Amino acid sequence: MSERIRLIEDLDRGAIPESPRAFLEALEGPSAILVPGRERNRCRAVCTLLHGNEPSGLMALHGWLREDAPPAFDCLILIAAVETALEPPGFAHRFLPTARDLNRCFLPPFEGPEGELAGEILRLVREANPECLIDLHNNTGHNPPYGVGPVAGAAELNLVGLFSERFVHSPLRLGALVEATQDDFPSVTVECGRAGDLAADAAARRGLDRYLAGEEIDPHHVTTPHMSVLTNPLRVCVRPDVEIDFADQPGNETDFTVVGDVDRHNFESLLPGVPIGWVRDETLWPLELLDIDGKDRSRDYFTLRGRRLETRRTIIPIMMTTCAGAAKSDCLFYVVEPGEEIVVEPGEEIVAEPEKEPNHGE
Ligand SMILES: [Zn+2]
Repeated sequence: MSERIRLIEDLDRGAIPESPRAFLEALEGPSAILVPGRERNRCRAVCTLLHGNEPSGLMALHGWLREDAPPAFDCLILIAAVETALEPPGFAHRFLPTARDLNRCFLPPFEGPEGELAGEILRLVREANPECLIDLHNNTGHNPPYGVGPVAGAAELNLVGLFSERFVHSPLRLGALVEATQDDFPSVTVECGRAGDLAADAAARRGLDRYLAGEEIDPHHVTTPHMSVLTNPLRVCVRPDVEIDFADQPGNETDFTVVGDVDRHNFESLLPGVPIGWVRDETLWPLELLDIDGKDRSRDYFTLRGRRLETRRTIIPIMMTTCAGAAKSDCLFYVVEPGEEIVVEPGEEIVAEPEKEPNHGE
């Protein structure tokens, strides 16, 4: 079997280059680094760079590794899309044009280069048998740090609580790493904020330090104050035949011009009447919002006032992007209804109930 990821058990932390990029160059390719802890009978896992343009997790791990202090427990560090991150101009590609999105490949049959790499990552992480796993990412738009995952138990909320007070409980099945490991051990994705923002790098480092220092993760009671849990996010997509751009005023050429700084509203409650963008002419409907039954409900959430598209009811937008490519290939943002937000106070007992039902919405 060809090895697509290298297991490193004897990393000389004192010799790690000062720049994160030089560190990646020294790794050469996907790497799993096992760092022995003060306690050898427990292990925690952390993954980063499943997407090549999301560097906060790498920055945090690089800084932590260079400090050369042992973690509380053994730590398995997975640094995945090293070549993608190094592709010029550096940290610029989510995945390469010839490749598939690696964080959509953690599903059988694990074929092709990305599928095989995903399969090897899963094998390594299961062999290490960690008590939990955190997968560090960034957004392309302005977002506060938040966690996202398919299971919203106390352990998952407390893992996210090391980084943030926000958790998005998403039953969407996309083929992500944390979906594949959710039944093995508590697993969460943490979106640290916008790629390239120093605040996002700092959020990743703060949470990582707490995680590797061995802060206990209560499996039964939520310990993070005011943990906000948003459930059932719905994907707001741009219709396939609609071209978009981002600007501060309506354009005349483009089908749909999205308000340029629309991402500043992420995680805010938006009242009805807030502008989202402008269409080229009033007969053009730019959005699609499919519910679990595949019915387009976009007109329940948005309305046209002349050429201006605005909110029709109160919504909480999350994960808004201002990158046209991401908006077209993935989605423009997600919406959550305010009634779907609950705030969990410390000490509340939460029992995780993994959803076993297959989801056909995605
Ligand atoms: Zn990502």
